[in-house]
Amino acid sequence: MTQQPESYDVAIVGARIGGAVLAALLGDAGHRVLLVDRASFPSDAISTHFFRGSGLAGVLGELGLLDEIDATGAPRLSSEYLYTDGRAEPTVTDPQDPGSLGYNLSVRRLALDALLVRRATRSASVRLRERSVVTDLVRDDGRVVGVRIGDEVVRARWVVGADGQGSLIARLVDAPIQERHDPIRALFYVYLTGFEAPAAGAGATPDGPEFSFRGDELAYVFPSDAGVTCVAVSVSRDAFHQVRAGGLEAFGACIGRHRGLADRYRSATVVSRLLGQGPQPSTVRVPAGPGWALVGDSGMRQDPWTGEGMDSAARSARVLAEELDAQLRGRLAADAVIGRYHAARDAQGLDNFHATVEGGRDLRTLG
Ligand SMILES: Cc1cc2nc3c(=O)[nH]c(=O)nc-3n(C[C@H](O)[C@H](O)[C@H](O)COP(=O)(O)OP(=O)(O)OC[C@H]3O[C@@H](n4cnc5c(N)ncnc54)[C@H](O)[C@@H]3O)c2cc1C
Repeated sequence: MTQQPESYDVAIVGARIGGAVLAALLGDAGHRVLLVDRASFPSDAISTHFFRGSGLAGVLGELGLLDEIDATGAPRLSSEYLYTDGRAEPTVTDPQDPGSLGYNLSVRRLALDALLVRRATRSASVRLRERSVVTDLVRDDGRVVGVRIGDEVVRARWVVGADGQGSLIARLVDAPIQERHDPIRALFYVYLTGFEAPAAGAGATPDGPEFSFRGDELAYVFPSDAGVTCVAVSVSRDAFHQVRAGGLEAFGACIGRHRGLADRYRSATVVSRLLGQGPQPSTVRVPAGPGWALVGDSGMRQDPWTGEGMDSAARSARVLAEELDAQLRGRLAADAVIGRYHAARDAQGLDNFHATVEGGRDLRTLG
């Protein structure tokens, strides 16, 4: 007797921000979801991790995760410290886009992604498969009807690519490129312990990220979970090669030129190697077609200098969850999901995407 393939309402490829948020929302609504990732959680990702109350932090609140976030030790970021022209003294402002939550957050991906995956699998209807690589799609009469994990076929009414900037699913469905912009910037970062909060004295709890502009360069301080601080710098494409060649020393020299951060950087202890990513194109793809959809970076990948990617991934997962829920309950035709999700994804994400692309060409032009 041949075994019937496993079958789900939705198979989601990629279990981080876009995938895990979508799985949690669909699982809460009672839909049968397969969540697949080649990684095993906890698992780190190359990414700093500043996000906003109006975006991912708000979604974490809706998922009931804020107590668990507090328990990681990540401070609530209810202010911001802005240094212009590499000055020593900051202007203190309200947090950017804190939504009704009223604050922003920075939680390392090792902790954050594992927490999201755990939350998704709280629903009995969500099955997680780690260390599993999706290698191909299954099609029937032009519609995507499942995935292949090695030799195994898994059928699903919808297949969602939440598989990041190099998305295999986007390539397999040949998702049309809606916009593509040349690589503009690179971002480097390290983790430190003992990085003091600005002007608040030793041992004070940090209450905001720091942003230091200097020429076409932006340095960041993100007070994060477990008492660790992430310090980062976004540099132009040209400066990227110098920092990469010079490694941690060149990074330290770069931060040393930001007078508001320099002394505290020198007094703290670097506890990681130099991490980061070189210049990559910014791309928007058409995010849905017959039987498939894309959330997060697979559908809209932007330069990280504005730290919008995780917020955008969470928002796109939320709007896709609404459309798929309506369709799976029979309230919406399958074809209608495609146009509706495309419009909603663009409405929530394109303005920020364009601001990131335009502003990132030269930070000196920002008002
Ligand atoms: C250096 C850097 C700094 C950044 N800083 C910030 C920041 O401060 N704030 C912010 O909001 N954003 C930031 N971003 C952007 C952010 O990292 C992304 O927008 C976000 O991770 C997108 O989430 P995602 O769920 O779409 O995809 P990803 O996080 O890329 O997850 C994709 C997952 O899919 C899995 N996968 C891929 N292919 C397969 C397959 N075939 N089978 C099984 N599994 C598969 C991968 O293993 C991975 O776990 C930064 C990015 C970089 C590179």
